[in-house]
Amino acid sequence: MDCSTVSVDIDSYSTNLSQSHPRAKKEHRCGECRKTIAKGEVYLREVNIHDGRVMTDKTCQACVGIRNEFFKDGYYYGQVIDMLYEHVHEVSGDISEACLVSLPAGSREKVLGILEEFWGDYEDDE
Ligand SMILES: [Zn+2]
Repeated sequence: MDCSTVSVDIDSYSTNLSQSHPRAKKEHRCGECRKTIAKGEVYLREVNIHDGRVMTDKTCQACVGIRNEFFKDGYYYGQVIDMLYEHVHEVSGDISEACLVSLPAGSREKVLGILEEFWGDYEDDE
């Protein structure tokens, strides 16, 4: 609940046609983090219209958690992880403990991974 909202300038909108949370019958790839959604894993399946084209977007639960906590103003499909990475740089890695605690476990791991990478870069600069 205490995660800062990533500011995103939204100037194009996608139309959502359907949303479901099926259990994967075969492997899929998450459209955000590009990780494999394993067979048997529940994921978010959306049918959207992007720029007049109908597309099926599949997102893993960890990325859905990140969208819910950090992107309250909206997001662009496929850019959530990159935008979160930029956000971490903008706030100099200052993501509150309360925020990390409020994230679902899978999402927290991803955010911690980004933070670790950030602090790693930071140390390299010195
Ligand atoms: Zn993902």
